[in-house]
Amino acid sequence: MYWEGEKECISREALKQLQLERLQAAVLRVYMNVPFYRKKFDELGIDPDSFRSLEDVNKLPFTSKDDLRMSYPYGMFAVPLREVVRVQASSGTTGMPTAVGYTRNDIKNWSNLAARILVAGGVTQNDIVQIAFDYGLFTGALGLHYGAERIGASVIPISSVNTRRQVKIMQDFKTTALMCTPGHALSIADTIIEMGINVNSMSLKYGLFGAEPWSEAMRHELQEKLKIIATDNYGLSEVMSPGVAGECQERKGLHINEDHFLIEVVDPETLDPLPDGKTGELVITTLTKEAFPVIRFRTRDLTSLITEPCPCGRTFVKMSKVLGRTDDMIKIKGITVFPSQIESVLFEIEGTEPHFQVILERKAAIDELTVLVEVSESIFFDQVRKQKDFIERIKSRLASELGVSVEVKPVEKKRLERFDGKIKKVIDKRAL
Ligand SMILES: [Zn+2]
Repeated sequence: MYWEGEKECISREALKQLQLERLQAAVLRVYMNVPFYRKKFDELGIDPDSFRSLEDVNKLPFTSKDDLRMSYPYGMFAVPLREVVRVQASSGTTGMPTAVGYTRNDIKNWSNLAARILVAGGVTQNDIVQIAFDYGLFTGALGLHYGAERIGASVIPISSVNTRRQVKIMQDFKTTALMCTPGHALSIADTIIEMGINVNSMSLKYGLFGAEPWSEAMRHELQEKLKIIATDNYGLSEVMSPGVAGECQERKGLHINEDHFLIEVVDPETLDPLPDGKTGELVITTLTKEAFPVIRFRTRDLTSLITEPCPCGRTFVKMSKVLGRTDDMIKIKGITVFPSQIESVLFEIEGTEPHFQVILERKAAIDELTVLVEVSESIFFDQVRKQKDFIERIKSRLASELGVSVEVKPVEKKRLERFDGKIKKVIDKRAL
């Protein structure tokens, strides 16, 4: 099932031609309308009329999150504000916020791309969609909302209220599809169990999760606990969120909406392009956005491209589940660790919640990694010896998985601070 079958199954050859035409127009548009790009192109001697092949994208400068912050709020807009119909912003959890804008056309495209992702995830007009993302300046909720309405599904814009209320509405309204962060979904699943509700008596069929990296172990847990097909989708507020990519029912990578986004994967240190299948930083150029186009935006998300044809029939290249952010890539004692590896281990251990935070410190010139992990009440208040055994078990499993020794500290449930339902996974105190 497709939302826009002709476009989603376009031949690779026709896609390349379409991408080139759109890239040429996008490069010209930013040069004419965004002083930031005009200045950069002029400095680098780039003639915006000289683009003859997709490989020419290599000549273009990268855009960083800092570039967007410095232009806050309207400096990167490519149209006058009278043409902008909506302004939103990133949550600003990692510093200064960034603002983004949309024209009427942008909203139309966004709705269609979100609709593609919803349909790929299994949603139809017969579904009752509960959107438990935070509404407001954060783009996730409204993006899905417009996509779901576009399909003709019934939308419950519940936002990120507490889990008991989520479950109550889910029961009363017979919700069939849940959309939120995977972490929030897990809390909802646990609340269903706590409330003594048989999940088979509920109507849930699909879960579309995104806005934070999550592991296959988390997918397995969510599918089991909620009796759903759980798919991953990807976007970011600076580009389009959600709307960049989403999984089909195969659940083996996220199809990228390549007719609207030109994708590269580069080495995060050298910025050299990497071959397909190699993990690196995802870089996105918007091909159709009018109000807020970006050229070679460095997402800081680590992924790899999957080019093998997909049995679903879509011809768009897939990206693997995001492994983590370059900011969250932990380098300790010469070893690289990703938070998703820690999450996978915690899933295997009875009595822990996969809600955790990594603290990096330097003590007497030696780097130390401590994992704060939320544990069940029975363990938190257990006898000292029992709790100690439990911690030792986590420590040894983490050490063998990560190849480096770590400290583990149990904390009470819901103790770690959440922003928009997300825990900041890594806090590096070494630089301070
Ligand atoms: Zn597919």
